[in-house]
Parts: sequence; structure tokens; C-alpha cells
Amino acid sequence: MNTSVIGYPRIGKDRELKFASEKFFKGEISEAELLEVARTIRKEDLLAQSKAGITYISSNDFSFYDNVLDTAFLFNVIPQRYKDLGLTELETYFALARGYQGDKGNVKALAMKKWFNTNYHYLVPEIDDDTVVALTGTKPVDEYVEAKQLGIDTKVALVGPFTFLKLAKFTGSKKIADVSPALSAEYVKLVEQLTSKGAHIIEFDEPYLVRDLDSADIELFKEIYSSVLANKNGAKVFLQTYFGDIRDIYAEVIKQDFDAIGLDFIEGRKTLELVKTGFPSDKLLIAGLVNGKNIWRNDYSKTLSVLDEIGTYNVVLGTSCSLLHVPYTLANESKLSEDYKKHFAFAEEKLTELAEIASIAGTDYASSEVFKDNQELFEGRKDSRDEEVQAKVAGIKEEDYVRLPAFEEREKIQKEILNLPLFPTTTIGSFPQTQEVRKNRQEFKKGLKSKEEYVEFNKQKIAECIKLQEEIGLDVLVHGEFERNDMVEYFGENLNGYVFTEKAWVQSYGTRNVKPPIIWGDVSRKAPITVEWSKFAKSCTDKPVKGMLTGPVTILNWSFPREDISIKESILQIALAIRDEVLDLEANGIGIIQIDEAALREKLPLRKSDWYSEYLDFAIPAFRLVHSKVKPETQIHTHMCYSEFTDIIPAIDAMDADVITFEASRSDLQILDSLKANNFKTEVGPGVYDIHSPRVPSVEEIVTALTKMRAKIEDHKLWVNPDCGLKTRGNEETVKSLTNLVAAAKQIRG
Ligand code: GLN
Ligand code: ZN
Repeated sequence: MNTSVIGYPRIGKDRELKFASEKFFKGEISEAELLEVARTIRKEDLLAQSKAGITYISSNDFSFYDNVLDTAFLFNVIPQRYKDLGLTELETYFALARGYQGDKGNVKALAMKKWFNTNYHYLVPEIDDDTVVALTGTKPVDEYVEAKQLGIDTKVALVGPFTFLKLAKFTGSKKIADVSPALSAEYVKLVEQLTSKGAHIIEFDEPYLVRDLDSADIELFKEIYSSVLANKNGAKVFLQTYFGDIRDIYAEVIKQDFDAIGLDFIEGRKTLELVKTGFPSDKLLIAGLVNGKNIWRNDYSKTLSVLDEIGTYNVVLGTSCSLLHVPYTLANESKLSEDYKKHFAFAEEKLTELAEIASIAGTDYASSEVFKDNQELFEGRKDSRDEEVQAKVAGIKEEDYVRLPAFEEREKIQKEILNLPLFPTTTIGSFPQTQEVRKNRQEFKKGLKSKEEYVEFNKQKIAECIKLQEEIGLDVLVHGEFERNDMVEYFGENLNGYVFTEKAWVQSYGTRNVKPPIIWGDVSRKAPITVEWSKFAKSCTDKPVKGMLTGPVTILNWSFPREDISIKESILQIALAIRDEVLDLEANGIGIIQIDEAALREKLPLRKSDWYSEYLDFAIPAFRLVHSKVKPETQIHTHMCYSEFTDIIPAIDAMDADVITFEASRSDLQILDSLKANNFKTEVGPGVYDIHSPRVPSVEEIVTALTKMRAKIEDHKLWVNPDCGLKTRGNEETVKSLTNLVAAAKQIRG
């Protein structure tokens, strides 16, 4: 059986791309040096796949920042304000990604959003009335040729035109239909260029097909592909989908002249059912059966039985989505014992799985060594269950999900006790993680620093941070999160049931990578986690200090979850653990507690019909379970980032927090209308500036944002804050930005 991989990690096994890019941004290395690092990464990635014997390997899956941005760039979907900067091509690309502030001008980055139901983010292409779609780039061609020179004849993976258009933002009067013919024509040109260089497989990635589609969407898809498929130029055209099933368009898609159709059998609940209704004999069926998102070993018996069921078709074994969402290799993990490792498969090990399964598919595999070895892994992980935890979860009662008294009453009590000014200012929690802050943690971890020295250093940082916030004039202070590497890993490290990796990095956005911990077994809290830090911070000031926790939904969503129990059960276990922490903070005099749910929307099913039944119906109560037992005067904050929540506003209100801060600046404050329309009761701090770029917002800019907010949000409910934590920012820009933020709040109060 042949095998196919949709895409491979591209950050480099040791995050080489991140480090090189960051040096390039600082002017420490040249463009040529950065390009060389990228070339080496691409080469290693291709060779790993070719060595594993993968039949269909992608090129053009590499990106300096994001593949959707690459596509925008390729087709000249570059707003004039970026072109006007007069930068080099690569610099312009990064200006779209990160914004630009320098001697050539001052522009914000494009909006950034979560990529479907993952923690990867794409940049939202902007199409305005001046956009002239034109194939001006050469990346797919260059990378195809480059791979070929290595002796690897790749399939060229492209973000498909349908998905591209559906994800783009139309800022002028143009609509999708005004652009789609031109875009299709440019894709056709690209196919021509690729085939002229010898490419004979072009893969169109169309993950948008797994969403709810209406008849207009289906028409649009047909229209776009009728022109693409009429101009194949001798190439084979693969349609690749992932992150779900394509139930709304399956019947249409199989009628089209695609040479292969890639379907997700892991997240696509209906995929098998659809395929069984029939699949054309003249096409390849790329069956995505090796999970591209999670790190557990593939259960060969399950996979092979699906392959048996679809054995009459021309099946190619594939990954369920790009391997971009898993780390590179277990070979990087020197500390993790074999007892754990044998249960995991990262990208490189998934290549082996693909090859192994393909080698025994269609044979009498049950007696093969490969199969038997694999099955041994699934005979039960004995150390993963904890009866006490299970009893606690079973003992949760309905009233544990309800906080009393009701919001309105709490709001009054809290206003009186906290006595904050109108438009209170605050931050989201973390302060810049400078070199010395990271060094302190690393030295402690490596045993080069004693616990006392480590704690002393952090206390000093906390004291400085509190002083700084007092000087800036913020109203609700934070301790700065200097003890945290990552908002999820930190909690994971302090919970039972977690396993950690050393180098299992996964790209989150651009040069930001995350290292999700692995939920191995039942979760419980070992001991208080944040209490000492918060207590110390509070002792440094008379102003209120916010305790800072990560919520259960985010902890789960940013970990690699178990596959042997349900997500719901895992979330409840974590919720009970974090609840202990909330109550301990309260008992220690912390009157404001923020429970971050940055990733709440991430696992929201891609189809609306599944939103509540498959997710929100347990995720939202799990959040309430965490804070339902606090006193009325304890103010519960939550924070969310990077998502469109316009459509789940009622669910967010139902979290029943007292205050919510969220990302808004990068999406043009669109959310305000729906807050108003839904009579949102929770107090809100829609971020007044974007912290994901090094740009310092001016006072006027923040005043403008606040003025817009005041039109939609009652004054007594409006908070003033950046849109996310400040840990990725530098000290200098942070002080300037926050100073402007406070000045803006004061101006508005005046
Ligand atoms: N409290 C966290 C911080 O400030 C929140 C981070 C996030 O939302 N991603 O870093
Ligand atoms: Zn955030």
C-alpha cells in the first residue's frame, strides 16, 4: 500500500527556524543566512520522509510564518500599506505577519486566527477594492525544484483557493464572487508553471470543506475547480481535506475529476460512512488514519480493520492532517523513559507507523510481529488510573456547577469592596520573560541553582514588577508569572497525571512554538501551586493583586489529551484540581482571581450542530465548577484570546465570571456589536492594543479604541487592558505601551 503525508513540521528539530528568524528580525543575521537555515530544514524534512519510504511527500509545506500568508503573498494579496513601506520581499512578508514599526513607516500586522480546531494560527488575508489577484510569487515552484534536486519528486501542496477565499477578510465592497474567477485563473497559471518544471502531482488542501457548507459554498467550490480541473496540464490533482468529514459536499466532490481525494478518518466521524456509500474506482482514496494531531501510538488493529472495510477501493494510507501539529521526534527525548516513549509517536515515528501499517495491510497481518508488538501497547496502561480521582468526579453534584449569589448581586458587592476607578486598568498576567528570567528557571531546573536562590530571584522580580505597575499607575496588579515557562506546562508540572517532554515543540504561530505536556493518567493537584507567589506579590503593595491560574478547558486543549478516556472526564478531573487552587488563593487573601481560558474555543466542533452537544455542554460547566465555591466578594476574571467568539457569546456569559478580558484589537473590535446584541452581563476588557507585535500604541489610538468600546459597552462594565499576556514582549516597549494605556484610561475618565 502506498503512503502519503500532508505536511511535515518545519520549525527545525531544535527550533532552528525560530532562532534564525528572531536573529534576522534583530538584524543579527542576513537574509541569506536565514534562507540557508530554511533550506537546511526543508532538506532534512524531505529526507526523513523519503528515508521512511513515504510514497507521496509534500513540498511547499514549509513556511517562514504561515502557509495562508504564503498563499496571500503568492497571489499578490498584499494590502497597499505594506507595499508602501518599500521593504524587501521577505521583509514585506514579515511586515504582514508581525507589523512594522521603523524608519519606513508604522503598520499593524494582519489579523491572526486559530487554524480550524488547532492551536496553530494563520494570518487572515485581506482583500480590498485595490487587490489585484496575480501570481507574483514563486515559492511552490522553487520548493518543488529544490526537492527535485535532492532526488525527491514531491507532490506540491497548496492551500486551496476555496479555503483561501473562505478564510480571507473582504474589507472593501468586493465579495468572494468578484475575486474567485481571477484567483482560479491564477491557480491555473501556477499549475502550468509547476508542470513546466516537471511537477506531476498538485495537492489542493481544502480543510474548509469539513465545515458546514451551504449551497452557495458548494457552487463556489464547483466553479473554482471546474476551471482548475479543466486545466490540469497533465498533472494529477489531489484534493486533500482534514479536521473532520466532508458530509455536505462528498457526493459532489467524488463526481469531480480529482485524481485522489484525501479524507480524515480520525476526526471525521462520518468519513467511513460516507466512503461506504461509494467511492469512484478511478481515484485514489487517501485514508487519513494516522493521527496528525495527537502523539499516541496508532492502534494497528483499529486502523487495519478500517482498511479492510475499504479494501475494495484504491487506498493510500495517509495522515489525518499535516504533521505540523505534532513534534518532530522522540529521539530528541533523552529523559523520558522507554515505558512512556513506547506509547508515543511524534512525526518521525508516525512515518514508521505509516510504513509498517502499509506493509501489512491486505495481508494476514494478525500473525505478523509488527502487529503483535503494536497490540501489546494497548493491553492497558496500568499506572494511568487513580480511584480517588474517579470517585471525586463521580461525586460532582448539579449545585457544584452554580455560583451564588447571581452575577448582578456579586457585581454590586465587588464594586463596593474593591472601590476601583471607572475604566479600571490591568494586564493579562505575564510580564516580559527576559533572558535573566528564563535563565533563572533553567538553572533551577538543571540543578545549578538552589530552590532558595531561585525563589529569591523570582521574589525580587515580582517586587520590581509590582513597583513598576504602581509607577505606571495600573489599578489591578499582577505578579508577572516569572515562574512560568508556559501557562499550561507550568500547571501540568504541578499536577499528578502529566508527562513532560524536553524538545517536543509544536508551532503555535510564526516563531512562537509551544511544548504541550501529555496527559498520561488521572489528574489531581499535588499541593498548592501559585499561592506563595501571589501572597508575596500582595505583600508588596496596597493595591489589589490578581491571582493567576489557567482554566481546565485550556489546560486540556493545550495538552496532548488521552485517548483512553473521554475529553469530558479529563476536563472535570482538571477542573477539580484547579478548584482546590482557587479556594486556596481566596483563603490566602487574594480577592481577585483570573482563570485563563485562552483556548476555550479551540476544541469547538467545526460544525455548529455539534457545538453544544459535543463540547460547550460540558466545557462551560467545567469552568463554573472551578469557581462556584468562592465568596461573593471574590472577583473572578477570565481571559481568552484569538478566536471569533461572536457566535458563542451566550456560552461565554454562561461561564459566569465577573470580568472577562479578550483579544479584540486585531479583529477590529467586531465583537462589541454582539456583546451588545446579547446583553452581555459579564464586565469586559476587550484588549485595547495588540501585544503580538512589538509596536507601541499611541495614547490617541487607545483612546479611539476605548471610545468605540464605550459606544457598545456600559461605562461601569468596561476594563482597560492589553489583549494578552506580555511575556513575549521587551521591557521597554511594555513600559511605553502600558504608560500610554493608563494615560488613555485617565483621559477617558476625565
Ligand atoms: N495569563 C497569561 C499571560 O498573561 C495568559 C496568556 C494567554 O492568554 N495566552 O501570559
Ligand atoms: Zn491571551
